[in-house]
Amino acid sequence: SRRFFVGGNWKMNGTKESVEELVSVLNAASLHDETDVVCAPPSIYLHFARSILDPKISVAAQNCYKTAKGAFTGEISPAMIRDCGADWVILGHSERRHVFGEGDELTGQKVAHALDSGLGVIACVGETLEEREAGTTEEVVYAQTQFIADNVKDWDKVVLAYEPVWAIGTGKTASPEQAQEVHQNLRGWFRANVSDDVADAVRIIYGGSVTAANCRELASQDDVDGFLVGGASLKPEFVDIVNARA
Ligand code: 13P
Repeated sequence: SRRFFVGGNWKMNGTKESVEELVSVLNAASLHDETDVVCAPPSIYLHFARSILDPKISVAAQNCYKTAKGAFTGEISPAMIRDCGADWVILGHSERRHVFGEGDELTGQKVAHALDSGLGVIACVGETLEEREAGTTEEVVYAQTQFIADNVKDWDKVVLAYEPVWAIGTGKTASPEQAQEVHQNLRGWFRANVSDDVADAVRIIYGGSVTAANCRELASQDDVDGFLVGGASLKPEFVDIVNARA
């Protein structure tokens, strides 16, 4: 069975002081030991967060570039992320796609390079409200997943995050049925296009307005293997979300 996986995407939030406060809450909490827990601070706090977080909690970057080094002002590489002690990177987040205009091709190149560099990848897909209302949700998330899959050899190092854009930061969570439907369809996509083994093993996590109040019902769905949490990951309630299946 698939290990539950909960990531906290802190986005562009925090100060050294607030990072210390949140870390002390997480370090003191009893986190279900059958759950993988990953925190993704802003890159400038990666090393600091890693240095004070309990080793049982992993650290992720929120993005990276597709090459190891060079004249790419403002970017960071997977090698640097690893050098700061982090093991994961979030790629293809909807804010990278929609605020910063990063497309499927670039996202795929980043996935390939991050995996080659030894990072685990939390790869994100999800439809906009317009796409959902037009009935194209499956088409959209399958196409995004294809670009990711084209760049993956070892699926053990990849977690797929389904984050419907309309649910991110809006308080409009997907219903457990809506999430389960897309997750089940994505697993079917893996069965048809990758392999039975990958379809059975790959963690598909849900993101979009997850809170302590709605996480248990979502977590009870067969194909929901964890969460990628934004706003609530900055608060003590993140602990309850980590323990949604405990
Ligand atoms: P919210 O939990 O704030 O809706 O953000 C979800 C998200 O984008 C996590 O990556």
